[in-house]
Amino acid sequence: MSDYRLKGETGEWEVVIGLEVHAQVTSQAKLFSGAATAFGAEPNAQVSLVDAAMPGMLPVINGECVRQAVRTGLALSAAVNRHSVFARKNYFYADLPQGYQISQYDQPIVGEGEIEIDLPDGTSKRVGIERLHLEQDAGKSMHDQHPKKSFIDLNRSGVALMEIVSKPDMRSPEEAAAYVSALRSILRYIGSCDGNMAEGSMRADVNVSVRKPGEALGTRAELKNINSVRFVRQAVEIEARRQIEIIENGGTVDQETRLFDPSRGETRSMRSKEEAHDYRYFPDPDLLPLEFDEAFVEACRASLPELPAEKKARFMERYGLSAYDASVLVADWETAAFYEEAAKHGDPKQAANWVTVELFARLNKADKTIADSPVSAAALGELLGLMADGTISGKIAKDVFDEMFESGEGAKAIVEAKGLKQITDTGAIEAAVDQVIADNPGQVEQYRGGKTGLIGWFVGQVMKATQGKANPQAVNELLKKKLDG
Ligand code: ADP
Ligand code: MG
Repeated sequence: MSDYRLKGETGEWEVVIGLEVHAQVTSQAKLFSGAATAFGAEPNAQVSLVDAAMPGMLPVINGECVRQAVRTGLALSAAVNRHSVFARKNYFYADLPQGYQISQYDQPIVGEGEIEIDLPDGTSKRVGIERLHLEQDAGKSMHDQHPKKSFIDLNRSGVALMEIVSKPDMRSPEEAAAYVSALRSILRYIGSCDGNMAEGSMRADVNVSVRKPGEALGTRAELKNINSVRFVRQAVEIEARRQIEIIENGGTVDQETRLFDPSRGETRSMRSKEEAHDYRYFPDPDLLPLEFDEAFVEACRASLPELPAEKKARFMERYGLSAYDASVLVADWETAAFYEEAAKHGDPKQAANWVTVELFARLNKADKTIADSPVSAAALGELLGLMADGTISGKIAKDVFDEMFESGEGAKAIVEAKGLKQITDTGAIEAAVDQVIADNPGQVEQYRGGKTGLIGWFVGQVMKATQGKANPQAVNELLKKKLDG
């Protein structure tokens, strides 16, 4: 994937991407107040005096948010800074009642780290993390509630965000998308953010520039608040093409903040990019610096579960899965857990296939997630077991699975009730084979005359005659013996 190039009139261009992801910390309360954070509440129902910036109100740090930021830093193999400082980032906006955002500037809570991303071709790549800092979210302006007035909802004001900044290490829309997926998966594994992009718990500012391969970095444009993996992919591609056209026509790219409009498939300028000095950052005098001791950091580390990259390596090693299958299975911890439970009973590679192909297809069709799958992992395991011990064929298993999905009944019960047991009794199979040979003298003659490809057709006929219950391998062997002999 690293050789992704866009073609212009002057030759090939390389795309360079760096992401700033805002991830809402999973916490009952806001970063500096006790107000609630639940999604979907009535406007302004979750606003404390601190969040509304009433005079004289003082922020108090939420320890759980700090702990989650440290755990996230550790999960990104990053350096946790034992000393970090909150800073005021000053700007005016109607949805920011304080007139500044409490963020972190030159002394963030987490420094450099890295993430391994999995690409669709089965390869993987490391993307550097620049930093992770804690900050408060702003409120929301609502312009669609009244013909002449705008309203402000402060429910999000003060909600804890982690801003996770990558290095400009990505080189294609696919890599940018894979990065967002990998980050989301890590956050969900450790429970520091629910990763729900549709509800705004996670959103990405996507920085894009283009250059001729081998040249210095070009000027970047920042695409704000992109809220799905698909949009990340689209936005990168569209913005890169726009920049190439400008440069090839003799112009220069402006460093600016742009909006991606998916419905029109374009990006539009919002404002010229502000520089750090525009914000007049200074240490927040209402808050002490954060200081951690070794024991605190180690307790955070000890609380981390097995992470996606570790799980992927283990699945490849222990179950003999391909890198691709393993990466699909570990993307969600729910899927990974489901797989491991199901795989206990059958062949692990076959189990991977049944989860990623058969189960996913049926869940998709029913618009369900694995968490509300009508077939439990243990139930799928039972089905896999019936295939492994030869009770049913793979073909019958698919029908049984359909039935399980519909009715919620167990595999054994269905096989029993419908008499679907595979016929392994050679006598019964032989009778069916003889019958098919006797009924089709024309095909037998063609086969013996050299059209050996007809074997598949014969197997099909015998399977049909036995309602799919004959063991296909036994059928194949018997047919060959009788037709060739
Ligand atoms: P700011 O906070 O002003 O947006 P940063 O220097 O923190 O600026 O960088 C923000 C993001 O932009 C980072 O994710 C970084 O990787 C990315 N970035 C920096 N330079 C480029 C570039 N030339 N092309 C693409 N992305 C870039
Ligand atoms: Mg930025």
